Amino acid sequence: MDYKKIGLKSGVEIHQQLDTSKLFCGCPSILRVEEPDVIIKRKLHAVAGESGEIDIAAKFEHVKEREFKYEAYSDSTCLVELDEEPPHLINKEALKIALQISLLLNTKPLEITQVMRKTVVDGSNTSGFQRTLLVARDGWLEIEGKKIGISSIGLEEDAARIIEQNEKEVIYRLDRLGIPLVEIATSPDISTPDEAKKVALLIGEILRACKVKRGIGTIRQDVNMSIKNGSRVEIKGVQEPALIAKVIETETERQSKLLKEDKKMQAEVRRANPDGSTTYMRPLPGAARMYPETDLPLIKINRELVNEVKSSLPKLKSEIKKELGEKGIHDEMINLVLQEDKLEEFRELSSIGVEPNLVIKALVLYPKEIASHEKIGLEKVYSKLTIDIIETLLVRIKEKKLSESHLKHVMTEIVKGKTIEEALEIKTIDHSELEHYIQKLIKEKPGLNINAYMGLVMQTHKGVHGKDVIEILKKYVEK
Ligand SMILES: [Zn+2]
Repeated sequence: MDYKKIGLKSGVEIHQQLDTSKLFCGCPSILRVEEPDVIIKRKLHAVAGESGEIDIAAKFEHVKEREFKYEAYSDSTCLVELDEEPPHLINKEALKIALQISLLLNTKPLEITQVMRKTVVDGSNTSGFQRTLLVARDGWLEIEGKKIGISSIGLEEDAARIIEQNEKEVIYRLDRLGIPLVEIATSPDISTPDEAKKVALLIGEILRACKVKRGIGTIRQDVNMSIKNGSRVEIKGVQEPALIAKVIETETERQSKLLKEDKKMQAEVRRANPDGSTTYMRPLPGAARMYPETDLPLIKINRELVNEVKSSLPKLKSEIKKELGEKGIHDEMINLVLQEDKLEEFRELSSIGVEPNLVIKALVLYPKEIASHEKIGLEKVYSKLTIDIIETLLVRIKEKKLSESHLKHVMTEIVKGKTIEEALEIKTIDHSELEHYIQKLIKEKPGLNINAYMGLVMQTHKGVHGKDVIEILKKYVEK
């Protein structure tokens, strides 16, 4: 398809949960599976907004006359989620992470910003609105030499999650309500499906460099798009970046077909299906949906705060890979460090001054191999092989008190329950020393069989590998 001719204009909007407590109360941002111990029922009524008009989207939901049932937990949600208590002051950590993301996307933070209430009519917010604030504006990112604008970065509350719904009622759970979400909106500069995918992937990489939640449901992607003579469509809930291209392709086809048949189109919100098709959800909401949150003071984002965030900006994976590659670290070792999220520890241990690939072996590769060999969890391995113990072992190697080839064995013994001293003792004798001892032993006590010599060696050399001893004994005893 010739997307230039079709006049495709698209922007993506990405919502990412942050890995902090909730945005306007101190409750933990955790989703729970246990039965809730608080249940509250409410109904939603459409009322005229400041303009005097009832929002078209609000009317649409009201027609359905559904009842909303809210499930909550007395020990991990509070009255803020139930809209029975005013919001607390904004979560500073979440604001800082939003600022990090803003700076990484070259946007300009606002000096002063106000929390707004965005009308939400599907019942997913107990208050009937979602709190949201603009953090930064006017940035860009680059995809293969082309600049794509970042129009805004916002910070907002996640909505309650749907547990069950039918014609009469919707059951929501409040554990998700209030989890901080960063909202990144690009300008409609994207002109092909592939470009949209690349934008989403790059934003994803930037987000993962910051303290964000990981896993299914923690990131949500929406697509805004239009084609020449078509109408604006917002497609909600694209599951993964790869699917963004497909969704845009199928929507372009749908609109092109309607244009050909001369059918009327309306601006609408559609839902992305897992196969890349889309389904009609509701008309596109009108513009007058926001009004100030009067329960909260204005938020100042002063120079000091911006500078503080600027001084500790995280690096992107691609930058880290490049930097580590330049130090002579092998690709697969770099991937191990990044996979297991051990970059900080790696940097710390690098200061010892041993070869960097060896640091990664000690820090990630061997613990993983030990976990799989001993059939135990990696977490358990790390509970024994603490960073201090790994440091001690590497220092020993540097001082030539432990040979590199024995490192994994020593680590295994520690995981199996030996103290570091016990485990190191095993390896104080090196191979040539052992060979020397065996030669001497055979001379002193000639004529014994291998097993007898073996027993004697093992008595005096606790912890040496029996395999090593046999190998040496074979060389001399059979002669
Ligand atoms: Zn709360």
